[in-house]
Amino acid sequence: MNSYDAIVIGAGHNGLVTANYLARAGKRVLVLERRAIPGGQAVTESFGEGWNVDSLHAGGMLRPDIVRELGLSIPAPAPQTFTAHTETGALSIGPALTDAASIAAIAAFSAADAARWPEFVAFMNRCAEMLEAAYAAPMPRELPHVDLRREGLPLAKLALRLRRLGKRDMFRFIRALPMTSLELFEEWFESPALRAALASVAIHGHTLGPMSAGTGFTLMHNWLNRGGLAAPQYAAGTGTIVRALTESLLAARGEIRTGSAVQRVLIERSRAVGVELAGGEQIRAPVVFSAADPRHTLLALAGERELAPEFCWHARNIKMRGAVAKIHLRTDGSHGIGPGTHAIAPALKRLERAYDASKYHEISESPYLEVTTRGETVAVHFQYAPYRLKNGDWASAGKRLEEIALATLAPVFPALAASVRASRVLTPLDLEREYGLTEGDMNHGQLAMDQFFFMRPLPNWSDHRTPIGALVLCGSGVHAGGGISGAAGRNAAKQYLAGRFA
Ligand SMILES: Cc1cc2nc3c(=O)[nH]c(=O)nc-3n(C[C@H](O)[C@H](O)[C@H](O)COP(=O)(O)OP(=O)(O)OC[C@H]3O[C@@H](n4cnc5c(N)ncnc54)[C@H](O)[C@@H]3O)c2cc1C
Repeated sequence: MNSYDAIVIGAGHNGLVTANYLARAGKRVLVLERRAIPGGQAVTESFGEGWNVDSLHAGGMLRPDIVRELGLSIPAPAPQTFTAHTETGALSIGPALTDAASIAAIAAFSAADAARWPEFVAFMNRCAEMLEAAYAAPMPRELPHVDLRREGLPLAKLALRLRRLGKRDMFRFIRALPMTSLELFEEWFESPALRAALASVAIHGHTLGPMSAGTGFTLMHNWLNRGGLAAPQYAAGTGTIVRALTESLLAARGEIRTGSAVQRVLIERSRAVGVELAGGEQIRAPVVFSAADPRHTLLALAGERELAPEFCWHARNIKMRGAVAKIHLRTDGSHGIGPGTHAIAPALKRLERAYDASKYHEISESPYLEVTTRGETVAVHFQYAPYRLKNGDWASAGKRLEEIALATLAPVFPALAASVRASRVLTPLDLEREYGLTEGDMNHGQLAMDQFFFMRPLPNWSDHRTPIGALVLCGSGVHAGGGISGAAGRNAAKQYLAGRFA
């Protein structure tokens, strides 16, 4: 039987970040990935016949401290213009956000909004910095008991940082977290176009509508991960990040085995001692990190027999609820879509109605779409396509998604439909079966107010540990997760290396 110092389940970017920190600390580390290629949701892959796409995530950035600490060589991604196509016209805001062109674009809808925009951007940037600091801080394990040195000190630093925002922004930040986007934007802006543009960013990736509580927080979260309104993109695709992490891991003598689905975590006396692969092969290590989602890790890989019944009940209730699909269109190049990120966001209330459909397990007939292009390929993020359908199933409903998307895009990009030569639809069921995401939830658990910070994935279990000794969560489903930042993977590795899970 093979043995290592550490095993990491899942070669998404978080698993690779964890493995890099461990390998650089001299650990013999093995990453096991069920797919044939590493990358998870950050993958750039071929759909055949030379058609290479960012199949899921269209852009993103690792935290700068990770790039620095691991000495990664990643070419700078290109910042994108964000255009919201609304009922009252198209509103384009440049990557610089507050340059003269962006202010003028907003002024065409409302002079008052244009005047308030720089203050809003400055406020959002401060919120994102605050969130970034919170995502780097370990969350206390068992509130109200706080280990003063390990948990109390980072929390005190965070509180000080919050205080440094100044009285006005401190209250604005705390108040905005639970607010609905509707209420937040009503306080700041009058133009329906700007409200709709911002609301689309707040709901992107979340099974929430702009009238849902907590979309103030999801706006800040996406603003942080995107560095503003639109995620920057890499010339060679999101796989640029995966390549850098993979090369760096191999250089540090780490190993990656693809096509290696873990079917069970080996547990002896309530402690993880290795894993068993789908073919029955067993590999041992004194610690097992899992970058797969918490529900899959706890219930399927560790197994209910190893966990207390009440804990199983809580783990089963982690809200997954994916409602995102992805449609890739290979065109002849004459799609007529300009550069940058395009949101189809007619009005805030229309986005809410798009969300309404998912509450009733129906596909939105007037969906929120986000469109990006890379050469001839047009990628469409489709929301809302709920994992559970009231009528029909995802085996047959995929084509319907493409029809709705093309019909929705036709008035905005009239040349698109005729330019399409091939297509590939990834439904929530594909996200589960192909990319290993329970219920197609790309964040490994919704970023809802009852599943964030010290409650992610579950209250009392937000410090990466699980009830199984030496089984550590390091993917998006734990605190700091959601998005391509690597924060969850870094935190898990750093805390383990600091001896906090002994
Ligand atoms: C269309 C789309 C748009 C998105 N947009 C945004 C956004 O704007 N903002 C934002 O914050 N986030 C966004 N996200 C979410 C973001 O991409 C994810 O949160 C992030 O990529 C997850 O990274 P990860 O490394 O934690 O997990 P993943 O990338 O999901 O990697 C987990 C890996 O574990 C593997 N695995 C699972 N089970 C096993 C097993 N039993 N054995 C071996 N391997 C296993 C999987 O195959 C996978 O490779 C988006 C996602 C999608 C799909």
